[in-house]
Amino acid sequence: MKLRKVTAASAVVVALSLAVTACGSDKKDDSSSSGGGKIKVGIKYDQPGLGLQKPDGSFSGFDVDVATYIAGKLGYKPDQIEFVQTKSADRENALARGDVKFIAATYSINDERKKKVDFAGPYLLAHQDLLVKKDSDISKGTDLNGKNLCSVVGSTSAQNIHKTIAPKSNLKELGGYSECIAALQSGAVDAVTTDDSILAGFAAQDKYKGQFKLAGLKLSNENYGVGVKKGDTATLDKINKALESMVSDGSWKKAVDKNFGPANYKNEPAPKTGQIVK
Ligand code: GLU
Repeated sequence: MKLRKVTAASAVVVALSLAVTACGSDKKDDSSSSGGGKIKVGIKYDQPGLGLQKPDGSFSGFDVDVATYIAGKLGYKPDQIEFVQTKSADRENALARGDVKFIAATYSINDERKKKVDFAGPYLLAHQDLLVKKDSDISKGTDLNGKNLCSVVGSTSAQNIHKTIAPKSNLKELGGYSECIAALQSGAVDAVTTDDSILAGFAAQDKYKGQFKLAGLKLSNENYGVGVKKGDTATLDKINKALESMVSDGSWKKAVDKNFGPANYKNEPAPKTGQIVK
């Protein structure tokens, strides 16, 4: 009698865990297969011209258009895309955890990151630059030593400052570039440093018009790749094909004009798959 009770109880436990497993795998299918499900894609939320969440909750920018095009080729309509904010320092972990299927977020390809994630692309070549107040006399990297500077934690921009560009500057590392821009406007820092593509987008915002200038320095080569989970070669191959057709069918150029035109950002030509500019 007693034994039977125990057996019944364990049957319930087994049934429950089966149900939980079934739910878990359903969820997984949702983000990895095409059809009725959704796909989760990592972008930035605070970078005008690249990845921006607008006040009405919708998204705009070059990375958003690249992500939407790729998702389309993977079989997902725009309303099946669930954008997820992936800040600079969170990108590798978001992919490793499977929070997102891929990331298009001004994500530079480099050897350190390649140990943790795989990259499709590159799909854009940008360069590290400085944004300063209009009347600033900072015009080159060496002017930064001893100055207050802002960049973002987990970015190549911050790393390059420490390693080569201005190791003697006082670098503040904040969570996102919008926070650095606020610090520049208030006078808390003398310059913001990151990719010229990002800085141009901020400088062109109505609220900042006429306040800032770009130094116009090419302090590094930033080859933007689309990050995927390490070892997910099936997705990687599909994304490379999608990027190639985005260039050949004219959508890449259209997205460039639409998103960088207003910022007057002079982009480099479309890179070829696997061609990294060192
Ligand atoms: N492209 C650089 C990077 O991947 C800087 C921009 C960013 O933080 O996203 O770190």
